[in-house]
Amino acid sequence: MVIPDEAKLLSAATDASGARYMLDVGDGETVRTRSVVIASGARYRRLDVANLAQFEGTCVHYWASPIEGRLCASQEVALVGAGNSAGQAAVYLASHARKVALLVRGGSLEASMSHYLVERIRAQPNIEVLTGTEIEALEGDEGNLAAVRWRNRATGVETTRPIRHLFLFIGADPNTDWLANCDVALDAKGFVRTGAELGSAQMETSRSGVFAIGDVRAGSIKRVAAAVGEGAQVVAALHAYLARGDADASRTAGRP
Ligand SMILES: Cc1cc2nc3c(=O)[nH]c(=O)nc-3n(C[C@H](O)[C@H](O)[C@H](O)COP(=O)(O)OP(=O)(O)OC[C@H]3O[C@@H](n4cnc5c(N)ncnc54)[C@H](O)[C@@H]3O)c2cc1C
Repeated sequence: MVIPDEAKLLSAATDASGARYMLDVGDGETVRTRSVVIASGARYRRLDVANLAQFEGTCVHYWASPIEGRLCASQEVALVGAGNSAGQAAVYLASHARKVALLVRGGSLEASMSHYLVERIRAQPNIEVLTGTEIEALEGDEGNLAAVRWRNRATGVETTRPIRHLFLFIGADPNTDWLANCDVALDAKGFVRTGAELGSAQMETSRSGVFAIGDVRAGSIKRVAAAVGEGAQVVAALHAYLARGDADASRTAGRP
């Protein structure tokens, strides 16, 4: 096995070696193991616009930190999304940008955003909420976005605005395809469920000895510090699990 390698499929092992799980890493190679930590993260959803990649990393952002805030100071920016993360980012950016055009595909914000955020957006004079709206095209060259064109889905009316920074908060898909064969419980969006709600230890999934940390874990805070913290924390959980397994094994071995 080379490191790093791709985990293709996790399944239960049924052999006498003590391994409980088997990890297929491709080319017929497998890893047998007593425990697994799932840390495969999530893919942030992208817009279906042909030249999007050209502006990613410069003018299209999936995050709104003070760095992005400074980048768009006193400008008009566009933000796509209607969930809480979109709402929080819109409010934050409105404190730096001249104007935030919040583009919502559905008919209202209320369906997907917490009431307190909807109220805060309404109270913010420089946030314009455009419902029933989708981005049609991005204009610019050499990584520099010059304008964004959007279209009202009901009227078909198109609008082009001179916008140099576009923010996308349209959700994330967890990297959990490789778990299809191992009965690890997932939530409705495919994130890995863990902990007390399953009657499991903290960060342990519905399968004993299989843990999940970071963005892939249902309910996790999608932040670097949180993922790193969970990575440190899971080591103790792993030791406890392995010690429990050893104790169980020696008890079993000692039985008459
Ligand atoms: C554009 C952007 C900006 C961000 N900015 C910030 C920020 O400023 N501050 C902040 O705190 N957070 C930020 N975040 C969020 C932060 O990146 C995540 O919360 C954090 O990286 C989660 O760590 P993770 O280890 O759970 O997942 P990831 O960092 O996504 O790592 C998962 C890894 O697993 C690999 N993988 C997936 N499937 C498999 C498989 N089957 N086999 C083997 N490997 C696999 C992936 O390739 C990836 O390398 C940002 C996110 C994005 C997208």
